[in-house]
Amino acid sequence: MSRLTSRRPVVDLAAVRAAVGAVHDPELGMTLAEAGLVGDITVSRSGHVRVQLRLTTQGCPLESELTAASHRAAVAVASVTTVDVAVATLSARERAELADRVAASSAPLTGGLGAPAPRILAVASGKGGVGKSTVTANLAAALAASGERVGVLDADVWGYSIPQLFGMRRSPVVLGEKMLPVPAHGVALMSIGFFVADDQPVVWRGPMLHKALSQFVTDTAWGALDSLLVDLPPGTGDATLSVLNLLPDATLLVITTPQATARTVATRVARMAAESGRCVTGVVENMSASVCGSCGEHTALFGTGGGRQLADDVGAPLLGRVPLDVELREAGDRGVPVVLATPQSASARELTRIASALPAASRRSLAGRALPLSVVTR
Ligand code: ADP
Repeated sequence: MSRLTSRRPVVDLAAVRAAVGAVHDPELGMTLAEAGLVGDITVSRSGHVRVQLRLTTQGCPLESELTAASHRAAVAVASVTTVDVAVATLSARERAELADRVAASSAPLTGGLGAPAPRILAVASGKGGVGKSTVTANLAAALAASGERVGVLDADVWGYSIPQLFGMRRSPVVLGEKMLPVPAHGVALMSIGFFVADDQPVVWRGPMLHKALSQFVTDTAWGALDSLLVDLPPGTGDATLSVLNLLPDATLLVITTPQATARTVATRVARMAAESGRCVTGVVENMSASVCGSCGEHTALFGTGGGRQLADDVGAPLLGRVPLDVELREAGDRGVPVVLATPQSASARELTRIASALPAASRRSLAGRALPLSVVTR
């Protein structure tokens, strides 16, 4: 009588390495394999796999996320029974090499040669409180959800709200000479809010502010982006001009409310854009008439027509009208953009539609051209 020996199928080590290597590191904007973060992998006869991850810093903010994703990837490989993920840190030399790789993969935001430049939309408004940051955050989240690689540069230095809108508050990791944007809801973020204690007002002025903003542009490893949305401060002050000066390829997206007064202020922003050689890519009217969920009645709390009027005045398309919607505000307060939190709400549907209809990048480069700042009036 022959004896049947039951042999355990052997785990394919290369398959485990490929699976773990394909895990995406949202902070570096590349896979763990591309970043060189997968260390030794061992497999026991019983199918137990041990993976070593080699992270950029001790206490890396993404440690638990990357550990869990690597675990999921390894355990899904055929014949793997159990998985252990151990974490180590890159050596100084490896960190320096990675820093070079990350810098090389970054698109130039300031024009010039290299990877294709992303579409850069500077989101402006004539005054605060019209929902500029809320619209910026949601357009970015909607673009990311559609598969784009998206960044948000929060240049609203005195009224920064991007960290709150994305529910993310921590310091960026520094790699070599560059800061890594903080990932949240699929979007790469950089904000002054990541550098100050909770709700501390920013009192920086002039040169210091310009330095911070220029670091956000040039010393941040944005990675290969398809789109960068810049949340400008309200109005046409120095910080706005600093940022526009740093981003020669940015075009303007103007947010306004339906009110006539808001329109007047926003018209000034649009005129400033024209005078500084920027094109207004489009206008979004926010806080438009809300629609009652039960009776369908439209209530125009903030009047009507401001967006249409502004669009006509500046010769730019009116890209959409986002209704007043309590779900939008509540989602923002919870730190989840409404397009992700409640995609079926009226505001989320309109914001998603606007994101998909945003004009393509303007390829007209103004690199090297000084902006005629003297013509700007406040
Ligand atoms: P800004 O960046 O122009 O100062 P915010 O984006 O911070 O404005 O929005 C101001 C307030 O208005 C926030 O509380 C936000 O949740 C709320 N808000 C913005 N747009 C809407 C809307 N369409 N419906 C309801 N609330 C809104």
